[in-house]
Amino acid sequence: MVTNNEILEQLQKYRYLDLKYETGNIFGSMCTKPHPMTLEIIKMFYETNLGDPGLFKGTKMLEEESISIIGKLLNNPEAFGYIISGGTEANITAMRLFNNMSKSNVNSTNNTDKIVKSSNIIIPETAHFSFDKSKDMMNLNLIRPPLTEYYTSDVKWIKDYVEDTISKKGENYVSGIVGIAGCTELGTIDNINELSKIGYENGIPLHVDAAFGGFVIPFLEDKYKLKNYNYDFDFKLEGVTTITIDPHKMGLSPISAGGIIFRNKNYKTYLDIEAPYLTETLQATILGTRTGVGAATTWGLLNLLGKEGYAKITNECMEKTAYLTRKLKENGFETVIEPVLNIVAIKDENAKETCNKLKEKGIYVSVCRCTNALRIVIMPHLEFEHLDNLINNLCDVNKK
Ligand code: PLP
Repeated sequence: MVTNNEILEQLQKYRYLDLKYETGNIFGSMCTKPHPMTLEIIKMFYETNLGDPGLFKGTKMLEEESISIIGKLLNNPEAFGYIISGGTEANITAMRLFNNMSKSNVNSTNNTDKIVKSSNIIIPETAHFSFDKSKDMMNLNLIRPPLTEYYTSDVKWIKDYVEDTISKKGENYVSGIVGIAGCTELGTIDNINELSKIGYENGIPLHVDAAFGGFVIPFLEDKYKLKNYNYDFDFKLEGVTTITIDPHKMGLSPISAGGIIFRNKNYKTYLDIEAPYLTETLQATILGTRTGVGAATTWGLLNLLGKEGYAKITNECMEKTAYLTRKLKENGFETVIEPVLNIVAIKDENAKETCNKLKEKGIYVSVCRCTNALRIVIMPHLEFEHLDNLINNLCDVNKK
């Protein structure tokens, strides 16, 4: 019989092969080393199942309280939602909501000619690939507006498109709009203010993907904000229906902890599926059995760190972002845009090749899809010396 220790020793060998955040060579990840307190929380909640909340009433309360705290952070004391597996599940949930809302709108008009086979969703070119998964699952039709020179969705184009299609094809034609607050590749923020107005005035729901930016934007010090840039993204804007915000990115929670926040609880009815053998007989989440660890770690960190703690973490990352940007310029590199959040994209015609050369040196960066560039995410595990090391290696592979 194999012993516990032997199993642990074998696991250790596999674990040894993984990269570690603290060595400072992971530059392309939106996750980071979780806060150390969460280790204790994981132990305490490892057997909990929020798929059957009547059995885990305390854990369910932690989820509700976490949503309420995040809701207030996002200017909405009425917020409803779930701590789920991550940004992908949150975005798919929002698309499921919009798809179901549009089907129910069409059904309620009783006009069979109008039955929507695939919902039309306006979605930025810079959106995360989780929306492509939603498209696959729900047969969505994704409409991609052009990008502005700032790599944000062109709101004028969207306004014209919405008004045009409403006049030609009827008011149910566009089922939803998506805006990104902190896009994966560049960290840009769409003009959510304008998107909200377009959505609100035309009765179209708006989803904001702030999976990354949600735990950054509310804490940014003014000195890190770009002039004439619109940072509004939350429920203060009346057109915003849902927001994705992930504790397991800049929230410092361990994986899996994502957040989907609805403006209010009424939206749940569009997602509910009967779950007759469970303690709560209507279930709105995509996953059935789901861990309560994310809700507990999120609650722990929201209460431990508070706004002040998150502001400190955010602004330290922004300071390092400014440092990296300055050093890159001094060494002859150019960035794609002035960084908006703690993401730096470095222009590089041969980005993939550079990325591979850096990997050979043990440095892990990623590449952008929307332009030829390397992508560096300045997460809390990165120190100034790691950034210096990155620049030295970049100079080396570029022979600058
Ligand atoms: N949305 C944005 C803006 C992201 O950057 C990411 C991941 O990087 C996601 C959604 C998907 O999140 P996850 O990987 O937690 O599913």
